[in-house]
Formats: sequence, structure tokens, C-alpha cells
Amino acid sequence: MAPPAEETARETTEASIEAFGPALTRGDERALSGLFAEDGHWRNLFGLSCGLRLFSGNDVLARELLRSARKVGAEGFRIDAAPLQPRRSIMAGREVVEAIFSFDTTNGPGYGALRPLPAAGGLARAWTISTSLDFDRICDERARRAAPTSQMRDFAAPDWIEQRETSSTYKDREPDVLIVGVGHTGISAAVELKRIGLSALMVDREERIGDNWRLRYRGLKLHNKTPVNHLRYLPFPLTFPDYIPKDQVANWLEHYVDIFDIGFWTRTAFEGASYHEASARWTARITREGTSRAAAQAYRARHFRQRHAEHPAYRRHRQLQRSSAALERLPRGP
Ligand SMILES: Cc1cc2nc3c(=O)[nH]c(=O)nc-3n(C[C@H](O)[C@H](O)[C@H](O)COP(=O)(O)OP(=O)(O)OC[C@H]3O[C@@H](n4cnc5c(N)ncnc54)[C@H](O)[C@@H]3O)c2cc1C
Repeated sequence: MAPPAEETARETTEASIEAFGPALTRGDERALSGLFAEDGHWRNLFGLSCGLRLFSGNDVLARELLRSARKVGAEGFRIDAAPLQPRRSIMAGREVVEAIFSFDTTNGPGYGALRPLPAAGGLARAWTISTSLDFDRICDERARRAAPTSQMRDFAAPDWIEQRETSSTYKDREPDVLIVGVGHTGISAAVELKRIGLSALMVDREERIGDNWRLRYRGLKLHNKTPVNHLRYLPFPLTFPDYIPKDQVANWLEHYVDIFDIGFWTRTAFEGASYHEASARWTARITREGTSRAAAQAYRARHFRQRHAEHPAYRRHRQLQRSSAALERLPRGP
């Protein structure tokens, strides 16, 4: 009798990961390349290096995997059946087996998805692999280690609101990351950056946060139902309608930024940026309302992200990838 499909799926993925880990540890590029299909892909989502990159072709991805894994001491690759039992599936019309795996790095624990192509005999070659850092576990661990907050009060010290006002001016310091566009993506990125200990300044050319929705046509509502539109950590209230009207979305974005206490400048247009290798810093040209284009402010940050990849400036600034590659280590937690 043929074994059940789940059993073969588990055996296939376990055999793949058991060959993958040692090949990586040995630094055996050839063996590693042989574990992937020629048209294989590796998507790194801040997993083995702090970059968001796709590598295609088994030789290329094996070389890049080795390079990145060595830098962060990646090891302990094992199938993790808790979030997903290894299973057979169809992906982009191709039959695959898929499984979730875990690993460890000097930056913290990570996880990924592996999709070997079922083989009649011998070891299945993987079509895709992805790697991410497990930021939730990293942040939970840091929160546990954090020193307890003192209840003593210093009435002469700046109050919370005073600190917030001073901090958002960025007069005496630079943000770690400059985020262009205070839409869903910029806001979500800023919250995650704050969680891992990086400061972010968001800039938007509109008058108010949420104007990207507010200024759209009257009568507009979100196209999808409310349960699939939540921003992370703070779901919409139960009283919200099934399809949220544009002005309610706009106000929600404003409240969300306020609650998560993220620095932002509105009426501030991003004009372009250049990267300095020596200081590993971006200098962004931004125009805040009230200043002329000629007097556009030069602004420095270690990293910046733009709202959309198709922004013309993106094509001009291929160094973006170098910038994120420069951040090989997570900032230290408490
Ligand atoms: C009618 C409609 C309904 C939709 N419904 C849904 C839905 O129900 N669910 C869903 O998930 N998605 C929905 N979407 C898609 C969703 O709105 C987008 O995916 C999302 O808004 C993208 O967010 P973003 O932050 O990347 O960009 P945006 O929301 O476009 O925000 C970009 C921000 O960048 C600012 N900006 C741009 N250039 C500059 C510059 N040079 N300097 C400074 N600031 C700048 C803009 O002012 C803007 O505020 C819908 C879209 C539309 C149009």
C-alpha cells in the first residue's frame, strides 16, 4: 500500500533540509547548488541578511546563501510542523511539496518556507526557499530581558508630551530610517522598525496623515471587507462597518500613528536622495512647506524606504540595496 501523501511530503522535506543544513555549514557551494532546481529562487526577507532580495538560478542562490549564512552563523535548520504540516500543493501550476523550517542566527531565530519538487527517485530538488527573521520571538525575548521601569518621578524632567514634541523635530539627531509616504505601508514599516529599536521619521507631502484617502472621490469605501484590512497590533473596532468609508480609514491612520507615537512631518515632499559609501548614509532632499525648492533641506539617514518601487527616484538610486545590505546586524535590544 502506498504511504499517505502527508507522510511522503514530510519525508521529502526532511530529506531536503537534512542535506541543506550540512552543505551550508561545510560551505559546500557545489552540493548546495545541487539541492536546488536550475530555475530555483531564494527570497530573503531580512532572514540571513537585513535585505529584501530575490536570487534566481541554483548557482547564484547557492553562492549568495553561503555568503549571507556565513556572516550571521546560520545553523540548526529543521522542519517545523507546528505552523504547517508538510504537504503537497500546486504553486503557479507546478506540483510542489511545501514545508516551514526554522533556523538560528547571531541576529536571532529565523524561519522560512521550502518547496521541493517531488522526484520519482533520489533527493528532491527545491524550487523555492525563503528566509525571514522571527521578529516576534526576538522582540518578545527582548521585552522579557528589559529592565523594569522605575515608578520614581522626576517632576523637573521633560514630560512625555514635551519629549515627544522635541523628539519629532529631529534637530539634534538623525533618524535611523527616513520613510517616504505615510500610507499603510510606511506606517506599518515604522511600527515594526520601532519594535526592533530603530527610529523612523515618516514624511508625506500632503497636509494631514490620511489625505491619501481623504482626498479621493466622495462615496469611496475600501474594496475588501474589514476583517482582511486590519493594520497589525490594533484591529479596527467591532463597531466599524463591513466596508470602511474613505474618511474613516483616513482618520484611523491618523489615530494609529498617534497611538504608536511615530515621528512624522506632513507637507514635506521628498525630492531625491544620494548615498555616501564612506559614511554609509543617505542624504535625502526634502522640501518642507514654507521653504523654497532651492532651499530644500538636506537630510541624513542610515536607511530610507520609499512608498512605491516605481518611484522614478528608485531607478536612479540602485544603492538602495547596498544601503540595506550595510545593516548586517540588528540594533542591540535592551
Ligand atoms: C479605491 C481603492 C480601494 C482599495 N481597497 C483596498 C482594500 O479594501 N484592502 C486593501 O488591502 N487594499 C485596498 N486598496 C489598495 C491600498 O489602498 C494600497 O495597496 C495601499 O494604500 C498602498 O499603501 P502605500 O502606503 O504603499 O501607498 P499610498 O496609500 O499610496 O500612500 C503613499 C503616500 O506617499 C505620499 N507620497 C508620495 N510621493 C511622495 C513624495 N515624493 N514625498 C512625500 N510624500 C509622498 C502620498 O502623499 C501618500 O500619502 C485600495 C485602493 C484603492 C485605490
